[in-house]
Amino acid sequence: MSRPTQPTNQRLSPVREPIIRIAQVFKQYRVGRRDITALNGVSLTIDRGEWVSIVGPSGCGKSTLLNLLSGIDAPDSGTVDVAGQRLNGLSEDRLAAWRGREVGIVFQFFQLMPTLTILENIVLPMDLARNGSNRRVRALALLEHMGVAELANNLPSELSGGEQQRAAIARALANHPQLLLADEPTGNLDSHNGKIVVELLRDLWNAGTTIIMVTHDPGVATQASRVVSMRDGEIVDDIAHIEQGACIHSRSMLLG
Ligand code: ADP
Repeated sequence: MSRPTQPTNQRLSPVREPIIRIAQVFKQYRVGRRDITALNGVSLTIDRGEWVSIVGPSGCGKSTLLNLLSGIDAPDSGTVDVAGQRLNGLSEDRLAAWRGREVGIVFQFFQLMPTLTILENIVLPMDLARNGSNRRVRALALLEHMGVAELANNLPSELSGGEQQRAAIARALANHPQLLLADEPTGNLDSHNGKIVVELLRDLWNAGTTIIMVTHDPGVATQASRVVSMRDGEIVDDIAHIEQGACIHSRSMLLG
């Protein structure tokens, strides 16, 4: 197994430009006769170039929030603006086209297509977006960057969990997305492979990708430049780490 590229030094973005702006978002689910409030008036702005962890107990609304950012789900009320697009009211077709262009998604259980080779898995999103002409060359370069190029012709089931997640990150990057959304990207990995994935994310962040990551792991969460804590469908804490070991509180502290 070859090693991924080593990260460069942390980049400090001089320009603050929102890439995500959600305002007063409410989302309920009807379960039987009960309405469950998943998001209760959430507002959040994330600048281009940030690496944000979203943390909080199970059921607090983290995945719902991530699904709103990718347009997989829609709010009952409130506005969702992501990567230059107001997502409210977009048709499924336009949402899918927008998502394919602007957003890369990494899942806890990788979700590679089991009957396609690793290389074909990376080419697929480029085919769907009709993006680029040298798709296999780009796919191979991405796999190389993730340290799994030698597995390009294998099926996902022939890879370890760590290798599958590195391939899944390559797939997420296939269409040069502005934004990477990761739902528990280390949740199904041992600590060694978890560290490799976190270093790959750091590498991408240093190269300018905006990353939003849901995680249960406090050690992983604090690798990000900002940690947003949720509870009961609300944001209760928002901490910006300006340097390793130092941080500033950027929002009122409601935990306690
Ligand atoms: P988390 O990711 O923090 O574990 P979720 O966003 O998955 O939380 O869920 C928030 C709340 O909304 C939970 O009470 C969950 O049971 C509920 N919920 C999420 N998705 C659905 C759904 N599709 N149908 C019904 N309830 C849901």
